Amino acid sequence: MTRSMEKIVALCKRRGFIFQNSEIYGGQNGFWDYGPLGTELKRNVRDVWYHDMVSAHNELQQPAGAPSTFQMVGLESALIMHPQVWKCSGHYDLFHDMMVDCHACKGRFRQDHIPNTPCPQKPSKMVGEHTGCQLTEPREFNLMMKTILGALGTEEDAAFLRPETAQGIFVNFKNVCDSTRVKLPFGICQVGKSFRNEITPRNFTFRSREFEQMEIEFFCHPSQSREWYTYWRDRRYNWYLNLGIAKDRIILRDHHQDELAHYSVGTADIEYAFPFLSEGEFGELEGVAHRGDFDLRSHTEGKLTKNAAGELEVEKNADGTPKHRGSGKDLTYFDDQTRERFLPHVIEPSAGADRGTLAFICEAYHEDQQPDEKGEMQERILMKFHPRLAPVKAAVFPLIKKEGMPEKAAEIFGELKVAGLNCQYDQQGAIGRRYRRQDEIGTPFCITVDGDTAKDNCVTVRDRDSLQQDRVPVSRIVDEIVSRLKA
Ligand code: ATP
Repeated sequence: MTRSMEKIVALCKRRGFIFQNSEIYGGQNGFWDYGPLGTELKRNVRDVWYHDMVSAHNELQQPAGAPSTFQMVGLESALIMHPQVWKCSGHYDLFHDMMVDCHACKGRFRQDHIPNTPCPQKPSKMVGEHTGCQLTEPREFNLMMKTILGALGTEEDAAFLRPETAQGIFVNFKNVCDSTRVKLPFGICQVGKSFRNEITPRNFTFRSREFEQMEIEFFCHPSQSREWYTYWRDRRYNWYLNLGIAKDRIILRDHHQDELAHYSVGTADIEYAFPFLSEGEFGELEGVAHRGDFDLRSHTEGKLTKNAAGELEVEKNADGTPKHRGSGKDLTYFDDQTRERFLPHVIEPSAGADRGTLAFICEAYHEDQQPDEKGEMQERILMKFHPRLAPVKAAVFPLIKKEGMPEKAAEIFGELKVAGLNCQYDQQGAIGRRYRRQDEIGTPFCITVDGDTAKDNCVTVRDRDSLQQDRVPVSRIVDEIVSRLKA
């Protein structure tokens, strides 16, 4: 079975996972809308991440592989921040891609994507391969989206939609330390929208202009930062494996020294073999970066740059004043046990919620052959979502629309709903067709009320993957489904 992007995109539209944004007006490039099932799925991705990283984290217990116990807390900062944040973080001056235009086809391309971009006029050739292309010199293009605040609308009122959620965490570092009893090491976690004016949004939701990130800034003592870097790199990689991504389709790729950002001691990308890539190629799902004290220092002192000796120092104008002034606030941490004051180092696991959701969709896609009611083999599309991620947890069917079966099925459906499980009720069509409808959206369990239910007070539970059917007492059905979802 090949996972083709065409089939996956078609299924996403057909069953209401992902729609083109503003479709009735021809679409808006780089923006996507999640339909009812996509909304459930993406919410599960975010919730599972938050649960595993924050809510279920036990600060009294040392997780396997971690150098010590630690705390994890959440944060929700605004999408728009003071413009000085982006000047000090480096985004204002440095967050750009190189853009190339073609005078012949009027196409606009990211310079580093050109070798793999089909020419809009001759799709069998890549841009730049044939004589007709008239490419301009590469120009810098800042990826931050600008907006105007207030009624006057002058350039002084310009602000930026955040291109990452991370800076909201750094500028609140002191607030979190002062308002809670966190002690180093600890992590601050944030899930939220980010915006980047991507030159060429493409590959479905993989490269969008509006997307969601799930970021952790983990603060630790500088002497322990390498150990924590290794811990987070491995833990985040395993998170995807535990949610069902096959080992041969996900890699942990350490960046080469020359790929590292100037402040970073180490960075690794977690990458997935998306079906739109060529055989052997992988696309980034998440970056895990060792950021040293770069961010807290920049927000104290001003924008940093590397000097001739390779050390970070405040970037200066010709007259010696800082190019972009920091807050001047003291963002150091005081350890009351050791009486030491220092700037913590930071490990940043930064994941994309949309790219994660897309990877889980691609991974779930399966096709097989199953006999229909007449015993004839039919192609079946099966979304093998991990039960924690599945948008619909169970479907309830009365075998036929009489003999009290719909009433009993509605009762069970109501109990599952009260237990907080997203379920569907379906009494339309042959039972086999109802199973196939649920398989195509990845529902792990189908519950059927049949003629025997009135006698033995049991229902049939069918497992999506093994196709095994078990009789389960109606009185235990909610507990049974809840425990199977956790298994
Ligand atoms: P890329 O090299 O693919 O542009 P990046 O290295 O710039 O990504 P980061 O700045 O490390 O990405 O952002 C962290 C995560 O946010 C990425 O791993 C990805 O999952 C997500 N992300 C970044 N840009 C986009 C985008 N344009 N669309 C969807 N998700 C994105």
